[in-house]
Amino acid sequence: MYDYHMHTRVSFDGHDSGLAMALAAKERGLKEICFTDHLDYTPELDMVFDTARYNAEYDALEVPGLLIRRGLEFGLTPENPEQLKKDLGRRHFDFVLGSVHLIDGVDVYFAPYWQEKGYEKGLRLFLERTLECVRVHEDYDVLGHLTYVSKARGNPNHALIRYDDHRAILDEILRELVKHGKGMELNTSGIDRCGGPLPTLDYFQRFHELGGKIVTVGSDAHDVSRAGQYTHEMVAELKKIFGYVCTFADRKPIFHKA
Ligand SMILES: [Zn+2]
Ligand SMILES: [Zn+2]
Repeated sequence: MYDYHMHTRVSFDGHDSGLAMALAAKERGLKEICFTDHLDYTPELDMVFDTARYNAEYDALEVPGLLIRRGLEFGLTPENPEQLKKDLGRRHFDFVLGSVHLIDGVDVYFAPYWQEKGYEKGLRLFLERTLECVRVHEDYDVLGHLTYVSKARGNPNHALIRYDDHRAILDEILRELVKHGKGMELNTSGIDRCGGPLPTLDYFQRFHELGGKIVTVGSDAHDVSRAGQYTHEMVAELKKIFGYVCTFADRKPIFHKA
């Protein structure tokens, strides 16, 4: 089993060491994990990881019986494809998750975004901006938590986002992913917070229909208690749709059928 979305103390909001997270993952029966620390450019929070600290945390890290990959979670905006290209020069990465967290510099996780825009407008803008990002970005591998806003702490509505309620724009987003050869992540952190994964399985069914090939599963754990959470169940669900799930090495997908 695989967890392709984990944060450690290298991330501004992570709590535990790489070793502690890796041991927790192994204890839960995982075979392979990937650390995906935050790299976002926001004026309020320092979400840019320190490369020396990243290297010190992971370079020598080994846990027998567990394959450990090094990745990052880059915060996509329509303006920052060049920044991503530059950041990829910081070191070697196996995997790049591209996630939309910020709209015009404001983190949608927190209340001010929702207070200003309200739910419908806030959600609409988030999806529109995600579409812009997947149109212009080329240098990431997999789109992280497409329906991230469901679990945003400041969002008054933690309901799952029904595909049919936003079919036109979601189809456009998924078609862009397919066109650019990008994958889609199933993020398990919505299961106990919102009642389902982010996004839900019907999104993956549609992605498959549209020709999507690359799918990963990640817990988005920021501490040991959530490392690998629900990944067994969700890998099994994606296998029903695709026949496999993916991991990455040197930015190339590996397809695991068993
Ligand atoms: Zn994220
Ligand atoms: Zn994350």
